[in-house]
Amino acid sequence: MTQPARTSSYATVQGNIHRPGDTAYDTQRATLNPAFNATPAIIVEAINTADVQAAVTWARNNDLPIAIQSTGHGTHVPSDGGLLLKTSAIKSVLVDPDRRIARIGAGAVWADVLKAAAPFGLAPVSGSHASVGVAGFTMGGGLGAMSRKYGFGADNLLRADLVTADGEAVTATHDHNPDLFWALRGGGGNFGVVTSMEVRLHPVDEVYAGQALFPSEQAADILARFRAYAPIMPEELTCTIALTAEHVAVRATYLGDAHAARKALKPLGVADAFSEQPVPGTAPRHFELFNELPDIDTILKVAAESAAVEIRYWGGAMTRGEGPAGHRNVPFSIIVDGPDEAAERLWPHATGGSFLNFLHDPSAVETAYSAADYQLLREIKASYDPANVFHRNLNIKPA
Ligand SMILES: Cc1cc2nc3c(=O)[nH]c(=O)nc-3n(C[C@H](O)[C@H](O)[C@H](O)COP(=O)(O)OP(=O)(O)OC[C@H]3O[C@@H](n4cnc5c(N)ncnc54)[C@H](O)[C@@H]3O)c2cc1C
Repeated sequence: MTQPARTSSYATVQGNIHRPGDTAYDTQRATLNPAFNATPAIIVEAINTADVQAAVTWARNNDLPIAIQSTGHGTHVPSDGGLLLKTSAIKSVLVDPDRRIARIGAGAVWADVLKAAAPFGLAPVSGSHASVGVAGFTMGGGLGAMSRKYGFGADNLLRADLVTADGEAVTATHDHNPDLFWALRGGGGNFGVVTSMEVRLHPVDEVYAGQALFPSEQAADILARFRAYAPIMPEELTCTIALTAEHVAVRATYLGDAHAARKALKPLGVADAFSEQPVPGTAPRHFELFNELPDIDTILKVAAESAAVEIRYWGGAMTRGEGPAGHRNVPFSIIVDGPDEAAERLWPHATGGSFLNFLHDPSAVETAYSAADYQLLREIKASYDPANVFHRNLNIKPA
């Protein structure tokens, strides 16, 4: 650990500080993607709000660009030559079972929250991997197996405490800084460094999850049934159809017991073949949204050229939230784990929209929002971060 080179509020940082050459520098700058090789000038591991305030103020006084990181699972813009401000050490999780709320440090991952909430029969809207960070997941929208019933992760945010670009500690709730609170529910890490969040928990006694596998020849039939049933399936049921070289998989999570799950799966004609097991996902190499499912022949052609194709129906409570997360009224998505040429076959049918948490291209952020929401996000960015201090991210530029 090195000491600060210049005097300023930076000297008050209590968390660890790492510079190139320090023992932990390489581990601290690492992200999930081993090919991503950012080389920040300095890394601050904040342990509290005062650390974040000191680091932000110091970086601004010294004209150092700032990147914010928790787990590094969703980092797409390098922090080269700047300050990498990490919140991963702020990890506390407190569950209030009576109010069904978790107060979560911005460095916590979903595994921490799931573990703290489970003894009370409660669970958050979390994603497919428990190693994903609560902060990035929630502000990037947050799609989970409970989202059809309880909304996006962002819709379950009740409060955020953050440090803004001018180093001020502020709170955002429905009643306090409501514009900022709206923006945080889908606008990503653009508006400040979050130090803690409160999220809603839900009573979840039983979750039935698994898949049914069928020979590839049945793909067209299963897709046709899925297309008809998806818009009317119960909100407790989250279902995707995955087409791989080996088989067609109907993957499902049901918020309830096995009996109710099998009943909900019946119209898909898969209930008897269903077996309980962890539900695998498909790497979102290409992600497209659709108002209507493209014709089945096109989907099968894309699948034949790809390692996997996964078709999902969103809908349910995700259509009812208030924040800018997701394209709420666009029901179908297709993930293609395959070459560009295969995915391109879907483009003529797709809306061109994206989902911030599945977006890898920082130049395409606008596609994650409706035109009206994007404009409002830019205006709110202009009020809270007019100089675009927080720009090393999936950036929303100030209006
Ligand atoms: C294996 C895997 C599975 C996934 N599954 C899902 C899924 O099921 N559903 C889904 O919606 N998404 C999913 N994602 C995407 C994931 O939600 C995003 O990549 C998200 O950005 C990760 O957040 P993080 O904090 O873990 O990552 P980080 O890389 O640490 O942060 C990503 C971005 O979030 C912002 N950020 C992080 N911490 C803070 C903070 N304290 N203050 C302000 N901004 C902050 C920053 O802009 C940062 O660039 C998955 C990702 C992976 C790698």
